[in-house]
This record gives sequence, structure tokens and C-alpha cells, in this order.
Amino acid sequence: MAKRVIIIGGVAAGMSAAAKARRSDPALEIVAYERSGYVSYGSCGFPYAIKGEIARVEDVVVRTPERFAKQGITALVRHEVLEIDPTGGSVLVRNLNNGTEFRDRWDALVLTTGGVASRPPFPGVNLPGIFTLRTVEDALAIQQWIREHRPTRGVIIGGGYIGLEMAEALDAHGIQITLVERLPQVLPNLDPEMAGHAQAELSRQGVEVNLDQPVEGFGGDERVREVVAGGRRIPADIVILAVGVKPNVELARAAGIALGPTGAVAVDDHQRTNLPSVWAAGDVAEALHRVTGRPAWVPLGTTANKQGRVAGENVAGGDARFPGIVGTAVVKVFDLEAASSGLSEARARIGGYNVESVSATANSRAHYMPGHHPIHVKLVYESGSRRLLGGQLVGVEGVAKRIDIIAAALHQGWTVDELAELDLSYAPPFAPVWDPILVAANLARREG
Ligand code: FAD
Repeated sequence: MAKRVIIIGGVAAGMSAAAKARRSDPALEIVAYERSGYVSYGSCGFPYAIKGEIARVEDVVVRTPERFAKQGITALVRHEVLEIDPTGGSVLVRNLNNGTEFRDRWDALVLTTGGVASRPPFPGVNLPGIFTLRTVEDALAIQQWIREHRPTRGVIIGGGYIGLEMAEALDAHGIQITLVERLPQVLPNLDPEMAGHAQAELSRQGVEVNLDQPVEGFGGDERVREVVAGGRRIPADIVILAVGVKPNVELARAAGIALGPTGAVAVDDHQRTNLPSVWAAGDVAEALHRVTGRPAWVPLGTTANKQGRVAGENVAGGDARFPGIVGTAVVKVFDLEAASSGLSEARARIGGYNVESVSATANSRAHYMPGHHPIHVKLVYESGSRRLLGGQLVGVEGVAKRIDIIAAALHQGWTVDELAELDLSYAPPFAPVWDPILVAANLARREG
């Protein structure tokens, strides 16, 4: 009898695992159960589809169940796994199309149930017109609301990257945006002075930014009409609730799959869980943070794809290893790019490091080239060892790719002095002769 692999969840991690398992062993039986109506899509594209930059929300789908079927992978949408039986090696599945339930057996199980958007129980949180954004269905529902209700006043709750991307998306529909954030800054991965550049850009674009304002509730009748935050009533006819994501661990917990210190599923470098023949990957799982050497939960599509691939190779009998993350992320805030990798100064201090930092501002291109813009760079490093702990960049251009230099340095555990020695590319349209990263790293070297 062929070895049967069951995958729970059919997005980045799940379908990467399926595809890799299939390539590694053509004899495997591979079945993926997905609760929503779509598999293999890039959620990262939703804000741009809602904005109208991408023609259709469905364009973010990479491969359909029909395409997977041609590869010998059964991907069943609208099928929810209700229970994992780890001793008997089976799952209980509900077909959401007709309500029937059945058991399916597995020899190997890959858990990729992802994350869920937080929806705290604020009074009125379930009023129509209040949306979270996680699935294709969520994105379609937001588009439909905009089409049918023509909102003119939108409130974004949460100043993380999804909140900021959605501010731009709704602004493109002529909606007046108010952003409400309970912390004193947006983009919590950045230190406050770096996040300040993003806040200034939001204000410049006409977004009303309200920091330090916890939401108290929502008012309305048959639909949302206002948000109550920081003692104020803010009129709203569309609300995006982007207050964070949690790992979707309920199935795992009920099955006795161990969770780690972050609350996500604990995995080793082969994506194995504590249970035999059960792997986990993507937003449901932790990853080793290469800077701290500790487990971390940084739910990003890049990691989900890579961990899924490792799990897929290993269920097919391989010996693939996931080397860990350094937590690299970039976001477009209207005309600005903001990026970070590793630890911010604030997080490094909380983590107990003895921290030093340097900040520099340098041009994105040679100063005589038209179209140059300042890039703000901050490097965080450990006193004594001078090991780079993190970097942040904000600017109009050239940020997204430069953060990858920091990511590479962090991945290798370099010191800030090694970073300063890099032979980076230069031609006037692309960079000044001293790249902004080298300017900052040399500043640290002088201070060392
Ligand atoms: P998910 O994408 O959460 O997929 C898990 C799937 O499991 C879901 O479809 C769910 O329906 C299914 N499922 C859960 N429970 C069950 C069950 N019991 N039975 C059956 N199916 C189940 N990352 C980046 O790196 N860069 C970006 O720019 C970026 N932008 C983003 C923008 C938005 C708006 C969003 C929402 C996310 C963004 N991300 C980005 C994050 C990225 O999309 C996620 O990290 C990635 O989707 C995680 O993939 P996953 O497969 O682990 O989990």
C-alpha cells in the first residue's frame, strides 16, 4: 500500500509541502484538506488587489486544485479537519459543501493550519462593515462592501504592516482614512524614531494617525457607523481590524502536539513535532531565530514556503533542514519603503543584550542624479562582540533590496565591522559611491 500523506491547510506552507513531497517521491498518496474555497494563494497580494493595482483578487492564486490534480496531488477545498487522532493515524474531516463527515487515514501528517486574524471581543465587533483580512473570501468581501456601499470614511485599527497596506488600498478608492493604534508608534518592528518616518508619510498622504488610542468598541445599527477609541467617536462606514495574528494551534493542542514558548507549534530543524510522523510548517509553527538562538514566531510567507518545502522533502524520507530566520520584513507605506531585519534596539534591550546603535542618512543615488532620495539607516549591534543584531531602513527607494544585505549579514552572524568591508555595487543611478549601509557601518566602526 502506498504511503499516505495528509496535509491540513492548503496555502503557502501546505501546498509547498505537497509539491515538494510529490517531486521527492512520485509513489506517495498526497491529500491536502483546505477549509476555505481556495488553495495555493499569496495573501500578500490582497491589499494590492483591493487597491485595484491587481485586476482580480483571484489573480493571487498560484495553482488551482485542478493543476495540483495533474501532479497527482488531491487538494480538497471547503474541507475542514475537525480532529487529529495521532495514535490511530487518522483525521476527522467535514465536507463543508454538504456537511458530511468522514475519517481519513495517514502515515504522515503535515500540519499547516497557519494563523488567524485576531478579532478581540470589542462591543459591536461583529457589525457588518468591520473586516479582518486573511483569506481570499475576506478580500472579496471587502471589495464587495466598497462596491455596494461606496464608503467615504474608513478606520484602520492597527498600525502593523497589514494596517498600513490597507490604508493605502482604501485611500485609492477616495476613502478618508483614520488610523487608530493603541501603541505610541506604528510598525512595532521598528524603533520609534524610524517608525516616525512612516507616521509622517501617512500624515503627508492625508491619513489621520491616532497613536496611544486603544479601541473601546463600535457603534452602528444594521452596519458599522463609528469606532470608539481613546474616548472619541470616529465616524466610519468601513473598518479594517488589523490588530495582529495568532498561530492557529487548536487542532494541534487537542491532539497533544507540543507548543513552544511563543505559543506556536514547537518544531525541530526538520520541521518535526513532538509526535512521530507529524510535521508542522508555516505560520502555525515556530522557527529558530538565528540572532537570539531561541525559538521565535515571525509569521511570514517567505518562511512558510521554505518550511513547507523542508517538511515535504522529509515526509518523503529526505533529510532537509530549515536553518532558521532572522525576521526580515519590508512594507510599502504609500510612497515610502520601510524594512527591518533582526532585532530593533528596543527588542534587543528587552532580550538582555548590551546594545549600541548608529543612525545615518545617505542618498539612494549619487547626489547629482535626479530622483535621489534620503535613506535612513539604523544598525543595532552588541557592545563588546560588535555582532550585528539588527538593521532598519526607511526611504522612498532602494530600501527593499538593501535590507537583504542586512539579512545576509545577520544570517552569517557578522560583526558591524565585517559589514563595513563589503564590496557593494555602485553606479550613479543606483547608489552613491558610499552606499547608505556602508555609511552607517563605517560610523559604527569609527565609534568602536
Ligand atoms: P495560511 O496562509 O494561514 O494558510 C493556512 C490555511 O489553513 C488557511 O487557508 C486555513 O483555511 C487552513 N486551515 C486552518 N485550519 C484548518 C482546518 N482545521 N482544516 C482545513 N484547513 C484549515 N508575508 C510576507 O512574507 N510578505 C508579505 O508582504 C506579506 N503580506 C501579507 C499581507 C496580508 C494581507 C496577509 C494576510 C498576510 C501577509 N503575509 C506576508 C503573511 C503570509 O501571507 C503568511 O505568512 C502565509 O500565508 C502563511 O502561510 P501558511 O500556509 O503557513 O498559513
